[in-house]
Amino acid sequence: MTVLELDGVTKDYGDVAALRGVSFSVRRGELVAIVGPSGSGKSTLLHVMGTLERPSGGVVRVGGSDVARLDDRALSLLRAREIGFVFQQFFLAEHATVRENVADGLLYAGVRAAERYRLADEALERVGLADRATFTPNRISGGQRQRVAIARALVGSPSIVLADEPTGNLDSATGASIMALIHELNADGSTIIMITHDAGLAGQLPRRIRVLDGRVVSDTGVTP
Ligand code: ADP
Ligand code: ADP
Repeated sequence: MTVLELDGVTKDYGDVAALRGVSFSVRRGELVAIVGPSGSGKSTLLHVMGTLERPSGGVVRVGGSDVARLDDRALSLLRAREIGFVFQQFFLAEHATVRENVADGLLYAGVRAAERYRLADEALERVGLADRATFTPNRISGGQRQRVAIARALVGSPSIVLADEPTGNLDSATGASIMALIHELNADGSTIIMITHDAGLAGQLPRRIRVLDGRVVSDTGVTP
């Protein structure tokens, strides 16, 4: 089953063509690296895949819905339910507990508070941080902070997790443990698309889509 489809997607910022006709699809259960040098269009692609930005041209389908047909309200609901985001900078609320940070991943999904906290504890269990639920982020390590952010992305059981340089702020040993977690979550069924400029990291993932100057230049390891 296809969970994400891009067909001839373009994105212009004024005179700058950040994406110049990108087409690929991702099936449920895939683990995909989007790899390319700085300025190649990876972040723009992440924003368009995540429905944070509308493309200038072409079609983006998430879970079969053509994003262009949805108004802003329907789009934010689709985003809340279908897409989890993980960023290099973690973006945790410093004054909230780990559990509250994770539960916040459900704020816009129309889930009641008690259920949000129950699901947050489940997600923390999956990332190995159940014993840190009542801590604030300043009392945990960088790797643990990224685990919290990953739990927040997973808490609503999204169809796609989009991770933007998830190990970019971590030392290599901690980064490796986050990569191991990403593999483990994928083995448990999560569909994960990871953006990276690091060819070595990309090489660890089964499928690699390489972008250059707003275009896909190779797509290797795609399951037949
Ligand atoms: P990457 O993530 O691979 O570094 P980006 O998607 O950030 O690439 O950028 C692709 C191109 O689009 C670059 O030329 C960049 O300068 C341009 N770009 C990205 N975002 C904007 C923006 N908001 N306004 C203008 N130009 C942008
Ligand atoms: P392939 O050559 O396997 O068809 P690509 O066209 O994506 O796939 O080429 C990149 C390959 O080269 C990856 O499979 C990756 O394992 C390897 N590679 C490239 N750069 C590095 C690097 N810095 N460290 C480790 N492996 C790398």
